[in-house]
Amino acid sequence: MDKTLPLDKIWNPWHGCRKYSEGCQNCYMFYLDKQRDKKGDDIYKTKTNFKLPLMKNREGFYKIPSGSSLRVCMTSDFFLEEADAWRDEVWDIIRKRSDVHFWLLTKRANRIANNLPSDWNEGWDNVSLNVSAENQKRADERIPILLDIPAKHKGIMVAPFIGPVNISEYLATGKIEKVLADGENYEGARPLYYEWVKSLCEQCQHYNIPFLFYGTGNVFIKDKKVYHICKAYQRVQALRSGLQNPPINKEYPIQKRCATCYRKNTCNGCNWCGKCYQ
Ligand code: SF4
Repeated sequence: MDKTLPLDKIWNPWHGCRKYSEGCQNCYMFYLDKQRDKKGDDIYKTKTNFKLPLMKNREGFYKIPSGSSLRVCMTSDFFLEEADAWRDEVWDIIRKRSDVHFWLLTKRANRIANNLPSDWNEGWDNVSLNVSAENQKRADERIPILLDIPAKHKGIMVAPFIGPVNISEYLATGKIEKVLADGENYEGARPLYYEWVKSLCEQCQHYNIPFLFYGTGNVFIKDKKVYHICKAYQRVQALRSGLQNPPINKEYPIQKRCATCYRKNTCNGCNWCGKCYQ
């Protein structure tokens, strides 16, 4: 499984959260729930999606094919206290689907160690533990905790990227497998500066660690010019910025994807560009 490729699929076994740190200030889940007259702090176990990785289609095949990568809990936090009662069942599902890679993300790094399954040992091959680090303060708080936890795969998500971040000392340990970065969206979105992303990319290049600039966010500043970028083009602009490690070029397999949005191997009519039809 090539873990350098984008993570396209999402599994939300529960929904809702409680705001936890400054990165949560404009949480997109709260914003989108409000648009639907719902409350983001109404936390519940999802019904049909809870067992998504075990669900099969009419032909008897898993809906999530072998070799997929799943981002877990994208409308919550995997280590949220309120989900403690549901997490063991989710670990069981992850254990059963050893052919699928599960990408777990949390801001609650101090809850990881006490909420791992009893047979975790040195970690599972199909699980990547990731912490959010929205600024230097949260990077210095959460990444050292992650480094001390046994895991086969560890990563850092700098999102929402709201302040410059230097994580060189953590990358130097050789324990971080991948770094992702993304800007902020919706009401009150705070700006992301090109220089912050460039610096982070260079830190990853120095330690030869894969870095993916995933999205610019709504407000992106380069050369003192402010760009307001709509959601549909944020990933395209980020990928075109050249701030990736390894760089996207003819030698790098991501180039085999759609030449415009890089999201799909083949265009399936998504609303990102449509240019791979041409
Ligand atoms: S931890 Fe994540 S899902 Fe929860 S409030 Fe913060 S940003 Fe939103």
